Amino acid sequence: TEADGRHGLTVLGATGSIGTSTLDLVRRNPDTFKVVALTAHSRILELAEAAREFNAELAVTSDPARYQDLKAALEGSGIEVAAGPEAVVEAARRPSARTVMAAIVGAAGLAPTLAAVARGARVALANKECLVCAGDLMTAAVADSGAVLLPVDSEHNAIFQVFDDERREGIEKIILTASGGPFRRTALEDMRAVTPEQAVAHPNWSMGAKISVDSASMMNKGLELIEAHHLFAMPESRIDILVHPQSVIHSMVAYVDGSVLAQLGCPDMRTPIAYALAWPARMKAPVERLDLGKIATLSFEAPDLVRFPALRLAREALRQGGGAPTILNAANEVAVAAFLGRRIGFLDIAAVVDATLARLDPKAPASIDEVIGLDAAARRTAEDLLGSVVAAQ
Ligand code: NAD
Ligand code: MG
Repeated sequence: TEADGRHGLTVLGATGSIGTSTLDLVRRNPDTFKVVALTAHSRILELAEAAREFNAELAVTSDPARYQDLKAALEGSGIEVAAGPEAVVEAARRPSARTVMAAIVGAAGLAPTLAAVARGARVALANKECLVCAGDLMTAAVADSGAVLLPVDSEHNAIFQVFDDERREGIEKIILTASGGPFRRTALEDMRAVTPEQAVAHPNWSMGAKISVDSASMMNKGLELIEAHHLFAMPESRIDILVHPQSVIHSMVAYVDGSVLAQLGCPDMRTPIAYALAWPARMKAPVERLDLGKIATLSFEAPDLVRFPALRLAREALRQGGGAPTILNAANEVAVAAFLGRRIGFLDIAAVVDATLARLDPKAPASIDEVIGLDAAARRTAEDLLGSVVAAQ
């Protein structure tokens, strides 16, 4: 709580899908939240506009080459301007923000998210890749600092709402639901030729490009399996994945007495974001209300591990442990970028991840520097493998 009584909030990745949904809620609750810092990589004019609208103390671009543009856009506003990855970390450290929304995409969010954790902030965590690539170090840092991790990912937010952490012995398993993405019914032969446009057209959610491709390959659910393992300290064997195309049940917790608790809602990220921002209280969110009578039917099916090998790769990486999830995540980031850049085909994404995992020693990284080193090595290996994937076609 700040001097003016409002809840200080910093948004990392303020121009993205999660970032703008977060600011939409802040806009509707001007007496509740005070924006401290906003960061973004590109879309400098949108960043500057948001910084002015919310009267942020500080605006940061992670891209040093965009410093002058941001400075020019904020001329005369009195808003501090900074640039570069280290400036994003400094923004995350600002103590006047009680809560940090971690909504950068990819392992690029690791250092700033850790900085927020290290100062004991409330961290609303959308950036699942940072838990995938450094889960053990992240949870150890949370335990050290007393930070609170509030899951924003809709599945994990759902589990968080119905997971009785005080009576963990009563919990049998958690069930992550998955929409199945745009290719749920696409034959394997046809998946070979799908375009980036088809892959990012998610049936239920409007999201950034990278997570949309991850949803299409179901690597997103694989990353979420690893994320759930770290957030809820559950072994891989007790986390199930269930395809549920309507995305109404956001996930479930099964108890030893046969009870299953679920959280439901229309698919709109402003619900889990509102829960993370207001926790342990509730705040109003302007989302469509769930009308089950109108929806009438909820359906479920088992995931198809043949058409969606990413699910198997992620499960194996979690089972193997050590550095395997770090390698999986880095290789996937490279492969998804290559697919979006039309350098490889859709099915090559999982092939590149698989081949990268096979090439590297998955020794557990013992420090953040070692995570960063392994992430970089996996990116180089995956880049090299892109060529052979293309050559094989
Ligand atoms: P997005 O692409 O829409 O936005 C990403 C944000 O991160 C932007 O503000 C961008 O400027 C910033 N960014 C990109 N690269 C950066 C870098 N190298 N350094 C610093 N900042 C950088 O992505 P999104 O869909 O909002 O997703 C953000 C995170 O939330 C991802 O980890 C994603 O998996 C997770 N998530 C998103 C959704 C969703 O509905 N969009 C749901 C669940 C989880
Ligand atoms: Mg999710």
